[in-house]
Amino acid sequence: MSYDTSNIFAKILRGEIPCHKVYEDEHTLAFMDVMPQADGHALVIPKMPSRNLLDADPRALGAMMATVQKVAAAAKQAFGAEGVLIQQFNEAAAGQTVFHLHVHVMPRKTGVPLRPHTGAMADHAVLAEHAAKIRAALGA
Ligand code: 5GP
Repeated sequence: MSYDTSNIFAKILRGEIPCHKVYEDEHTLAFMDVMPQADGHALVIPKMPSRNLLDADPRALGAMMATVQKVAAAAKQAFGAEGVLIQQFNEAAAGQTVFHLHVHVMPRKTGVPLRPHTGAMADHAVLAEHAAKIRAALGA
């Protein structure tokens, strides 16, 4: 399967649709998931086009995971979480719905269940507030 440049995260990278950004560097972008499974649910993507882990350049994977680590620590602190779930799907059979490589970062608290994977769209004011909390924890 090849990379399709019309996917929603490619549009975010091109600035064609907005996102609630939490972090950006030369190789990666992190922003809030619009259907968060947990408060503070962020997504980290490489700027280099790849459909998922299976076709990704290892350099893009390295840069992406370095950003995942930063965002995970910041989100854990920002939301007073006890842990952070890192999740990543490859192809539709494995649950992938957007075909630009991405990693989910979800702060977790004991006894607080995750919301459904394709659940309700969150309020944009809430997402903006959550993004600001993570940015503050990142020192941005
Ligand atoms: P996956 O492909 O790993 O199943 O998940 C894709 C994720 O992207 C979902 O958690 C979904 O909520 C999120 N998502 C889908 N469309 C958009 C969008 O337009 N903006 C943002 N920020 N997230 C999106």
